[in-house]
Amino acid sequence: MAVRSYNFNDNTQLSAHFNVQEFRCKCSQNHEILIAEELVDKLEKLYSKLNCSKIIITSGMRCPSYDISIGGNGGGQHPIGKAADVVCYNQAGERISSKLVCCTAQDLGFGGIANIDTTYTATHLDVRTSNIWYGNEVINYHTVTDDFYQYYGISRQNIKVVSAMKGIDVSVHNGSINWNQVKNDGVQFAILRAGYGREKSQKDQRFEEYYANAKAVGMPVGCYWYSYATGVEEARLEAQVCLSVIKGKQFEYPVYFDLEEQNAFNTGKSNCSAMVRAFCGELEKAGYFAGLYMSRSPFNSYMEDDIKTKYALWLAEYGQKLNYNGSVGMWQKSSTGRISGINGDVDMNECYIDYPERIQSAGLNGFSKCEIIDTPQIAPEIPKSENQATVEVNINGETYSGKLNKT
Ligand SMILES: [Zn+2]
Ligand SMILES: [Zn+2]
Repeated sequence: MAVRSYNFNDNTQLSAHFNVQEFRCKCSQNHEILIAEELVDKLEKLYSKLNCSKIIITSGMRCPSYDISIGGNGGGQHPIGKAADVVCYNQAGERISSKLVCCTAQDLGFGGIANIDTTYTATHLDVRTSNIWYGNEVINYHTVTDDFYQYYGISRQNIKVVSAMKGIDVSVHNGSINWNQVKNDGVQFAILRAGYGREKSQKDQRFEEYYANAKAVGMPVGCYWYSYATGVEEARLEAQVCLSVIKGKQFEYPVYFDLEEQNAFNTGKSNCSAMVRAFCGELEKAGYFAGLYMSRSPFNSYMEDDIKTKYALWLAEYGQKLNYNGSVGMWQKSSTGRISGINGDVDMNECYIDYPERIQSAGLNGFSKCEIIDTPQIAPEIPKSENQATVEVNINGETYSGKLNKT
């Protein structure tokens, strides 16, 4: 395994996601940067196995004097270019738990692995080949386990590395759709246009058909409402019409406010933001998981900060990359996709959040929440026999009772 030396100002791209500069020592002296090839190779594997959107190296190579200045002993793996402290981010822009990073790094054969902060978001990784160290610096600096899965109580089967889901969005303009073919082409969800404007007659002419046929093939769906509103009251009216159109249906994906009319943008940032709050607020009051669809550029110009984290975000930008650093749930990346079962151009999307899980477990979008609210109690007036107990359980306000047999 080679450790290479680079000039202080060298900015060679080492791999798809890592540059020499990211490993530079944070002392102020102009000295060489040591980087082990195997470290970069393994970080790249970690990146892809965790399906990261980015990995930030908070500390790479450290010269002995800098290592000592921050509490190290000047030895160890950082000074010899074999270690990096990292924070990994998922596709939604959220930090990935260091517990999960430790488990994955273990599978990839890193020789030194340790959680290094109390919030479990930063991880030390190195490529030592002897005296393996599986640590947790919150506890101490010694090896704490020989198996992170066991140590953190994570089961391999439970690690669901969420990769981007492939989806489409459709309206009457897409014409007749063969949903079986769409599904067989690998489409995993569909966002349907429910309608537009503030009249009930403006329901999308194929909304009912698309909804029924998508559901019939087991395709999870969401929907959107195309806005012509230029003020808060109109946005609220549109929400009411939207709610009446989608009533009685179930959506595994959010219900989006589609804001793209120049007339709306012309009213300015504060008013546009207020319209989004008005529409989405009405939806939330009615038990829906509300979202916002916008193009990336006007989104940057016309949305106030609170909007960025308040609702499910679906941003459009056509090309290889979504140029947005914040957290985003869905990206509309093309308007000219081809999908079997649909004639002509199709809007293509990637989704990074498990909305079906979130929405159904929260009992939103027409799904009912089923959870045990009270702990089961043995009904006191009925005596308990050796092998049987009568139990009452309260689910969503309804009481159920019955006998449980001893196993
Ligand atoms: Zn240094
Ligand atoms: Zn470290």
